[in-house]
Amino acid sequence: MSDASSQDPYIYADNAATTPLSPRALEAMTPYLTESFGNPGGIHRIARDAACALEDARARTAELLGAHAHELYLTSGGTESDNWILQGAVRRHRDLHGTSRPVRVITSAVEHHAVLHGCRRLREMGADAVVLPVDGSGRVDPASLSGALDDAEREGADVALVSIMLANNEVGTIEDIPVLARISHERGIPFHTDAVQAVGHIPVDVDELGVDALSLSAHKFHGPRGTGALYLRDGFSIPPMVEGGGQERGLRSGTQDVASAVGMAAALEEACEDLEGRARRVGALRDRLVSTVLERTPGVRPTGEPDPRRRLPSIASFICHDVDGELLVVLLDRAGVAAATGSACSTGSTEPSHVITAMGWDDPSWNRGTLRLSLADDVTDHDIDLLCERVPRCIERARLLSGFSR
Ligand code: PLP
Repeated sequence: MSDASSQDPYIYADNAATTPLSPRALEAMTPYLTESFGNPGGIHRIARDAACALEDARARTAELLGAHAHELYLTSGGTESDNWILQGAVRRHRDLHGTSRPVRVITSAVEHHAVLHGCRRLREMGADAVVLPVDGSGRVDPASLSGALDDAEREGADVALVSIMLANNEVGTIEDIPVLARISHERGIPFHTDAVQAVGHIPVDVDELGVDALSLSAHKFHGPRGTGALYLRDGFSIPPMVEGGGQERGLRSGTQDVASAVGMAAALEEACEDLEGRARRVGALRDRLVSTVLERTPGVRPTGEPDPRRRLPSIASFICHDVDGELLVVLLDRAGVAAATGSACSTGSTEPSHVITAMGWDDPSWNRGTLRLSLADDVTDHDIDLLCERVPRCIERARLLSGFSR
């Protein structure tokens, strides 16, 4: 197979891993990287300018999530927000109720490693983590959450937090967060959602979701990397994870990155303009890509939720029989497509993705061949035509080279 010729565009279809900074976000950030460089904790004019910009960015970001400015705490991104809420909820519970009863967190088997590996730390803290199964499309059954809460009551364990993601990063499945949050609240248990893949891609409103805490990350919606936030509903406070100068109302110390906060707000505003119209357009192109790849390539199945209303519009995900997913990604790269197998963070590991196995794909002749194509908002018909040519060709080639027995 020849590599893509120099005239053919290289198609970046790995937007769930990260997105390029939008020119509008860069323009908004530039003054705070140059002349308005002040530390927002200071008193003089340059510091006050920075503090004003920081608070304006916080308010604008919060408003787009249906939240109040004082409910949004800036962090270094999704991983920090997820770790903070998990550890913070356990410590909050112990502060409020003492340490005599066992403490538990309930989460799902398809969470990002920021949550699943974050739960390892909880176990080191003497807390317990229960991981709920999902169905074949990656959804948590509300009955299984009720069952886990019943089990906790029966076993005399207190549940400090339920944490279930809003949209999955590998297959795009959207969980029924309003229903899951209501079940938690009926037992008086706080609810967190990792909305890192959802914010800027589908409408996200903290009141409609009914959550007490929500994680977001700017680089997933054309904002800067290394910046995100944790939303904590008014009245739901957790202890800090990072101690120091007392920034972020004492809950997250460290001099704030004003330029990045401003970039996050600008990028989210841009992402939320005609969000639903753009989601419809990208979703239709994604559907054409999926159906053409399936038509043209034997031994390939779609993964995740089949109902397009219950999956992210930008993610097309497949599983390919007798194919090594990493080899497929290398071949796609040479053919002019940036794609991913499993999640970005598990790249380099030969283990099948935990998301795919949780969805019931336990046959090794299938579950090593996962492919995720995540589209940008400005993806064109021509890009889809090129993907529809390149992807089937590379899958066939990867199958020939993978050397699995058929
Ligand atoms: N949660 C989900 C669902 C993600 O997809 C990611 C990143 O891929 C993260 C958390 C981690 O976010 P960050 O890269 O901002 O640390």
